Amino acid sequence: MTAPTPAGLCANCHWARLVRTTRGSSFLRCGRSDEDSRYPKYPPLPVQSCSGFAPSDDQSTDTASGRADRPPAL
Ligand code: SF4
Repeated sequence: MTAPTPAGLCANCHWARLVRTTRGSSFLRCGRSDEDSRYPKYPPLPVQSCSGFAPSDDQSTDTASGRADRPPAL
């Protein structure tokens, strides 16, 4: 088993979406990319700085590690 990839800012961002494949892989997709081409659909992780960051309402995300091993709040 491999450790989850640290997501940085995306781990606590309102716009982050966790996409799971049928093969068990998971990817973090930026919801802002749907309407704004300045944001990559699949940002390289960890994201250290982003002008589109908006804090998630989900306070259960592990802010200490910044890991995307749980689905972010939608
Ligand atoms: S807006 Fe920025 S911080 Fe938020 S999910 Fe997209 S790339 Fe990550």
